[in-house]
Amino acid sequence: MKSPARLLILDDDPLTGQTISNIAVLAGVDALYTDDPREFFRLCKDWAPDFIALDLIMPHMDGVQVMVELARLGCQADIIISSGVGGRVLDAAARSAAEHGLKISGVLPKPFSPARLRELLNRQSPRTTSLIRNVTSSAQSADIIPAHELADAISLEHIKVVYQPKINCRTGLLAGFEVLARWYHPSRGTIAPDDFIPLAEKSGLINALTESVMLQSLRWFASLPDAIGPEPGFDYLKRRLNDVTMSVNISAISLSHLDLFERIESHCRNMNILPERIIFELTETCAMEDPVSSLDILTRLRMKGFHLSIDDFGTGYSSMLQLARLPFSEIKIDKSFVMTASESKESCTVIKTINDLGHGLGLYTSAEGIESLETLEYLRSIGCDLAQGYAIARPMSGPAVIEWLINRNNNDEIRRLDVLHSLNILDTPKDERFDRITRLAARLFQVPIALFSLVDTNRQWFKSSVGLDVPETPRGVSFCHHAILDDQILVIPDAIKNELFFDNLLVTGAPFIRFYAGCPVHADTGIRLGTLCLIDSQPRNFSSHEQLLLKHAAQMIENELIADYVAHSDPLTGMLNRRGFDARAAESIDLCHDAGMHACLFLFDLLEFKAFNETWGRAAGDRALIEFGRVLKETFRGSDLIARYGDDDFVVLMTGIDPHASESALTRLDDFIAHSAPEHPVTHVSGWALLQRKDNIQQLILRASQNMLMSRSPRGN
Ligand code: C2E
Ligand code: CA
Ligand code: CA
Repeated sequence: MKSPARLLILDDDPLTGQTISNIAVLAGVDALYTDDPREFFRLCKDWAPDFIALDLIMPHMDGVQVMVELARLGCQADIIISSGVGGRVLDAAARSAAEHGLKISGVLPKPFSPARLRELLNRQSPRTTSLIRNVTSSAQSADIIPAHELADAISLEHIKVVYQPKINCRTGLLAGFEVLARWYHPSRGTIAPDDFIPLAEKSGLINALTESVMLQSLRWFASLPDAIGPEPGFDYLKRRLNDVTMSVNISAISLSHLDLFERIESHCRNMNILPERIIFELTETCAMEDPVSSLDILTRLRMKGFHLSIDDFGTGYSSMLQLARLPFSEIKIDKSFVMTASESKESCTVIKTINDLGHGLGLYTSAEGIESLETLEYLRSIGCDLAQGYAIARPMSGPAVIEWLINRNNNDEIRRLDVLHSLNILDTPKDERFDRITRLAARLFQVPIALFSLVDTNRQWFKSSVGLDVPETPRGVSFCHHAILDDQILVIPDAIKNELFFDNLLVTGAPFIRFYAGCPVHADTGIRLGTLCLIDSQPRNFSSHEQLLLKHAAQMIENELIADYVAHSDPLTGMLNRRGFDARAAESIDLCHDAGMHACLFLFDLLEFKAFNETWGRAAGDRALIEFGRVLKETFRGSDLIARYGDDDFVVLMTGIDPHASESALTRLDDFIAHSAPEHPVTHVSGWALLQRKDNIQQLILRASQNMLMSRSPRGN
C-alpha cells in the first residue's frame, strides 16, 4: 500500500500551524508542526516530508532565509507558502526559490481555505516527485569533491550527457535538443551539473569537460536518424531529424579559448554536422563579462555558422545596448519566470516583455521550465517560438530520446485519426461545396488533376476530385501522406527525379504523376486531415506566389469544413442563400485577384415574379425558382459560386474569367432558356459588375442591379 504523504509545517503562530495540520490530517496526509527552525531542519532530514508549509514572515528567521537553507540541503519537497504577504512579494520569493532549485507548489493565503490546501496537496503525487529528483544536490559537493576525481571522470567519460527536447510552440513539432551534463559517480551517485560545473570552472577543467560533452553529443546527434527504425511511418520523422538543432552550454571562461571552438568545429566537420545545427548557450552575464572580447569571439563563431543563444535571460544585469550589439540568434527566457507563469501575473508580464524584446531584435524566442500545458498554451498565445520543459519532456538518455520520439510519432497519428473519424466525412457522397474549390484550383493552376484528399489509417480517400476517377488509393503510395507530415506545402517539381517518389506506383503507372503540390488541410483543432493537392503528368515549377494561392484555396476548404451549412443554404432550391454567398464571395474574389484574374458578379431577377405567383399559385412559383436555379447550375461552371440571394434574386460569381466571358455566359443562358422549359417564366433580366478586390458585396449587388435596370428593356425577352 502506498504510504500517506507527509506535510511538515513551519510557522511561528501555533494556532495557524495547528489549523493547517488539522486540515491536512483530514485530507489523509500525515502532518507535523513546529515553530522552531532547528527542529524544522532536523525533521526535513530525518522525516523526509513530501510537502512543506512555510510561513514567509517569522520573528527569528525569515522564510526566504529558510528557503535558501532548504536549497542548500537539497530539499526535494513541494513547498507551500503560507503567508499574508502581498502577491508581488510572494512572486519574488517563489522565483528565488525556483532559482535555488526548490519546488514551489503554490501559495496558501490567509485566512486558510481547506479546499485550497487540499488542492495544493493533491497537485502532484509526492512520492514520484522525490524519486525523480534523485540527483544529489547543493553547493556542498563542489567543495567536498576533489578536482582530481573530476579530472578522472572527464577522461573516463563518466560525465555523460542527457538530452532535453525543445519544440516549436506553434506547430508542436520537434525543433531540437539541449545537451545537459550528468556525472555518474561510482560512489557518490549522480551529481547535478550545478554542483560540478563550478568545480570544473574553478579547477581549469571546464574546456576538457565541454569538449567531452560536445564529442558525446555530436556522435549521438550524427547517428540519430539511423537510430529510428526503417518502418515506413517513420521516414518523415527521420527526415526531420536531419534538420533539428542541438544546444550546448558554454561557460564564460571558455569564451577566451578560441582553440576549444576550433576543435569543436573540426569535430562537426568530421561527423558531417553543419555548424548551423549547433547552438551555443551562454548566460547573459557570461557574455557581458567582457563585452569587447566577447563580441570578437562570438562574431567569429557566428561567421563559422554556429548559432548563439542567450541563456537564463532575465536573471542577469546586462545593458540592452550591449545585448543588441552581440550576434545572438536566440533568447532563452529564464525558467524562474516560466515555472511561475501559471501563478503569477508578474512572471507573465516579464515573459511577454522578453518575448517582444527578442522579436524586436530579430531573435528567436525560447522558453524553458515549462511545467504545465497551461503555460505552454500561454507561450503559444504570445507568439513565443520555442518551448522546453518537463511538461514536454524531461532530460533523457540517448536511447530514451529515441523511444520518446517513436511514441510521440505514434500518439500524434492516433490523435489525428480520432479527429478525422469524428468529422464523419469519410465515405460520404460528393459535395458541391468542396467540388467548387477543387474545380477552381484545377482552373486556376491549369492542372488536369486537383484533389481534396483525406489521409485515413491505410488509405487516402478523395472527398472531392477533378480529373481522377478512383475514390481512394493505398496510403503507402500516396504523396499526401508525406504532405501532411509538415505544415509546409509539399512541392515535387518532377517526381521521377525525386528519390522518395521516382519508383512510386502512381508515378510509374496511372495517373503517371510528374508534378505534385499538396497543401495540408486542417481541422479547426489545427490537426492535419489531408490536403488540397494539384497533380500534373508534366513536370513543372511552382513559384512561391503559386504556393500562396494554393494555401489560400486550402483555407477555403478549411472554411467549408467548419461552415454551418444549414444556416448557409436555401431549403427550397438547396443552393447557397445570402449568408452562404456572403461568407464565401469575398475570399473567392481575393483569390482571383491574387491570381491576377478577373472576377465578375451577375445578378438575376426573375421578370414579374410576383404577378406570376399571383396568377399561377405559390407551388408553381416554387417550381419556377427551382428550375431557374437548375438552369444557372447547368449554364455556369462548377467553379462558380451560385446562390439564391433573395426571393427571386439569384447571384453568380464567376472567377477566373476573361472580360468577354461574361457576355458569352449570358448568351449561353439566353440560348438555354430559349430552348427549355417553355412552361415557366424563366426569362430573366440580369445585371453584372466586374469586381475589384475588397469590393463590398452589397455595393456590388447594387452596381449589378443598376446595370440591370439599364439592360432590362433590350435584354428582357
Ligand atoms: P540551464 O542551461 O538553464 O539548463 C536547464 C536546466 O533546467 C536543466 O537543469 C534542466 O534539467 C532544467 N529544466 C528543464 N526543464 C525544466 C522544468 O520544466 N522544470 C524545472 N524545474 N527544471 C527544468 P540541469 O540539467 O540540472 O542543469 C543545470 C545547469 O547546469 C544548466 O542550466 C547549465 O547552466 C549547467 N550545465 C548543464 N550541463 C552543462 C554543460 O555541459 N556545460 C556547462 N558549461 N554547463 C552545463
Ligand atoms: Ca542552457
Ligand atoms: Ca537556462
